[in-house]
Amino acid sequence: MIFTVNDTIRWLHKTSDKMIEHVDYLTVLDDAIGDGDHGHNMVSGFQAIVNDLIAAEKSEVTLNLADLLKRSSQQLLKGVGGASGILYATAFYKMATVFQTATIINHRTFEKALAEAVRGIRNRGNVNNGEKTLLDVWVAVLSLFEQSDAFPKSELIEQTARKAMDNTKTYAATKGKAALYEEASLGHIDPGAASTYYLFASLAETCKENEDG
Ligand code: ADP
Ligand code: MG
Repeated sequence: MIFTVNDTIRWLHKTSDKMIEHVDYLTVLDDAIGDGDHGHNMVSGFQAIVNDLIAAEKSEVTLNLADLLKRSSQQLLKGVGGASGILYATAFYKMATVFQTATIINHRTFEKALAEAVRGIRNRGNVNNGEKTLLDVWVAVLSLFEQSDAFPKSELIEQTARKAMDNTKTYAATKGKAALYEEASLGHIDPGAASTYYLFASLAETCKENEDG
């Protein structure tokens, strides 16, 4: 499978839909080990992305993969107040630096972009894998791509991201607002890991439509 400009646009639209659909759940998760704004942050960020995509389409600007992710990164920086905004923005921006002028990419280039995103989140958040943050889901999906000789099957992408999100229940937070809860954060899914699951579940849905032709 290859990944195109149109796939990226569908991926971003689907992510926005999922954030809207699950806004209350993300709020509940962030109420438990944070300040309750994560659902709102994700919805406003991805709605800003979608509005920008629609505006670009109307003005008939031609965008490549990197343009799409750079514009999305800017919308997240403008539209999201929380820590997650800058981290999602960094991830998208770093992916864009790998895509450059491409309009079609293969799984290896996607893997390189994921690796750059992981590096970016690590540096920006001063965070490592296993600290109960959104990074944990990115690392798991990157690892799946590294082990695959082709674009991973859509079900595998979804399952891998879900497992990594669920797994954040099993350890205590050491970064972000959740770290204030220390051991009390055990048993709770990290809100950023949950929204990142929706990001990759949306990628999986996009790939599934391509697999089904
Ligand atoms: P805020 O924490 O500022 O209220 P959000 O609620 O939108 O912002 O996002 C919280 C999520 O951001 C957390 O669940 C976690 O996944 C992620 N996060 C917060 N701080 C960090 C960090 N230093 N490194 C990686 N991820 C982080
Ligand atoms: Mg919050």
